[in-house]
Amino acid sequence: MDCIFCKIVAGEIPSKKVYEDDTVLAFYDIEPKAPVHILVIPKMHIAGCHAITPENSAVVAHVFEVIAQIAAEQGVKDYRVVTNNGADAGQTVHHLHFHILGGRVLGEMG
Ligand code: AMP
Ligand code: ZN
Repeated sequence: MDCIFCKIVAGEIPSKKVYEDDTVLAFYDIEPKAPVHILVIPKMHIAGCHAITPENSAVVAHVFEVIAQIAAEQGVKDYRVVTNNGADAGQTVHHLHFHILGGRVLGEMG
């Protein structure tokens, strides 16, 4: 499958890893939009929020446990978690991912 994040999971494309376990990977966004900008992804390919089902949703709960842990480790108390679903919402990589944004005052959602 031609998926850049599956390639990052497989180690075929390098990333600056923040956290990894059997089911979840987190790495620094290559084009940071905030002082802290980390992507947290399930290792399994899920195309986006629209593809979350009862069969795969457990990993999403785990993603959010990891998000809380990473935010604490990064020292950000206030932060934003964003996932874009679909091209019109700004999704450019069609592998479910959650942006952790923090380290500055974030302002209103656009
Ligand atoms: P989205 O636009 O919500 O689909 O987010 C995709 C994010 O992936 C963007 O913020 C990109 O900067 C980021 N990105 C794309 N390629 C890489 C890469 N090789 N390593 C790290 N982040 C990446
Ligand atoms: Zn993928």
